[in-house]
Amino acid sequence: MLSINGQGLYDGKRQLIGGVITFRDTTDATRRTNELQKLAQYDELPGLPNRSLFVEQLSRAMGRSQRKSAPLAVLFVDLDRFKSINDTLGHDIGDALLRQVAGRLRTNLRIGDISGRWGGDEFVVCLEDFGESNNAAAAAQKLLLVLSEKYEIGNSEVYATPSIGITMYPDSGATPDLLIKAADLAMYESKKRGGGRFQYYSQALNTQLAQREELEIGLRHALVRNEFVLHYQPRIDLANGRLIGLEALLRWQHPRFGLLPPARFLPILESSGLIHSASEWVIATSCRQLAAWQRQFELPDLSLAINLSQQQLVHQRLVDTIKSALLDTALDPGCLEFEISDGAIAQKRTAELSTLQGLRKLGVRISLDHFGTRDVSFESLDNGFIDSFVLDQSLIVDVAENGSHQRIVRAAIAMAQGLDIEVAAEGVETLSQLEFLRSCHCDLAQGFLISRPMQSDKIAAILRSEIAGTRLLARGML
Ligand code: C2E
Ligand code: MG
Repeated sequence: MLSINGQGLYDGKRQLIGGVITFRDTTDATRRTNELQKLAQYDELPGLPNRSLFVEQLSRAMGRSQRKSAPLAVLFVDLDRFKSINDTLGHDIGDALLRQVAGRLRTNLRIGDISGRWGGDEFVVCLEDFGESNNAAAAAQKLLLVLSEKYEIGNSEVYATPSIGITMYPDSGATPDLLIKAADLAMYESKKRGGGRFQYYSQALNTQLAQREELEIGLRHALVRNEFVLHYQPRIDLANGRLIGLEALLRWQHPRFGLLPPARFLPILESSGLIHSASEWVIATSCRQLAAWQRQFELPDLSLAINLSQQQLVHQRLVDTIKSALLDTALDPGCLEFEISDGAIAQKRTAELSTLQGLRKLGVRISLDHFGTRDVSFESLDNGFIDSFVLDQSLIVDVAENGSHQRIVRAAIAMAQGLDIEVAAEGVETLSQLEFLRSCHCDLAQGFLISRPMQSDKIAAILRSEIAGTRLLARGML
């Protein structure tokens, strides 16, 4: 390919006296630009269009659909338990699996249908040119079958099933963004029903989507409008009933929906990236509160547990936030415990491990939350990161009568003692649960039986009674 460039030559009186013409071979440069453009639009891993190209193609398809008055379907495809495949078989197998899924998507769609990679193990498909919505279901069913067939990767046989959400244009959304969001929601619904199935987007889901969007917009302003609130739940030492610490639990005082628990907004905080600033607020506010209580009630050992989301561990910013909270409050770092989910430890990703190392250097404690809900290896417990774990509520809820849960709890506590790890049990609601935990020598307990999470003024009253010698649990109960 040739590029020609001409330039006039002028004398002092600005009279044209000649010219210079340059010829340049631009074959290489053009090829490089094209390759870069392609790389930007196609996802390197499965060789499928990426988000932006898919959205562009979808919006063109929507234009065609409008002109022809023919509906269009968008499918959101997500692999079930992909994370655990990645965790147990390794990232190379995970990547190979995604490549094969992409291949099966490409080969099993009709010419003209569009597919793309939305991110991670999420794929999107747009089906054009069919009359009734049943056809979209037939296509989804076919994809479900082909994507559920055995994958042969190296010497391994891997089985995976997809969850699929279906939306129709124009019924379920007027823009590519809305259509895909709705399909994502429908996919999530099929996941909730056990996975390996597809689900249409419905009016009920529609209301949910509208609420979610309202919440997402509201969350952007919640911090500056001072709408976040912290509740604190006491934790007691099971050996003597003393209140030894508190867990900070985030709430959102929504102007329209009232006081919302984390389950209603935490997933949105996490998926929108707002979790970082919200958590900075949680850390700064709860540390200030703890320092004030320690001083006011002369309880220098009173501890505080703060929950962290997995995304936060990828950012070094977390370590800086905690460091400045420690500097501001002059708290003993040993009084702070950060609760993480076991995924962070199990996956051994360098960014996350380096944050954990940063936390260790600060001298704060690290605790594994929701223990017993996922597989954790001995190695990840004995790698020096973990000071304690919190037995999940689902184990405690029926521990007084469920023999299997009794054995698990007893074994977990015995193992923790062997590894010099402290154990807390949460969700303790009855005396018989408490008695069982005490009989296994569980260290700490937390739950409605002892106290519900409460606002700081109520906690101050509890602390006042505690130092006056009145325990949350009467002596006879222990
Ligand atoms: P979690 O860390 O397991 O917190 C304990 C949850 O159990 C709290 O729910 C608490 O209200 C509830 N609970 C306590 N005792 C009992 C009981 O006896 N029975 C029953 N049924 N429930 C009890 P909450 O406040 O709704 O928090 C839910 C989850 O949200 C927390 O689970 C934690 O994982 C997360 N979370 C809360 N605050 C934050 C935060 O500031 N940042 C992050 N990243 N996550 C948070
Ligand atoms: Mg917790």
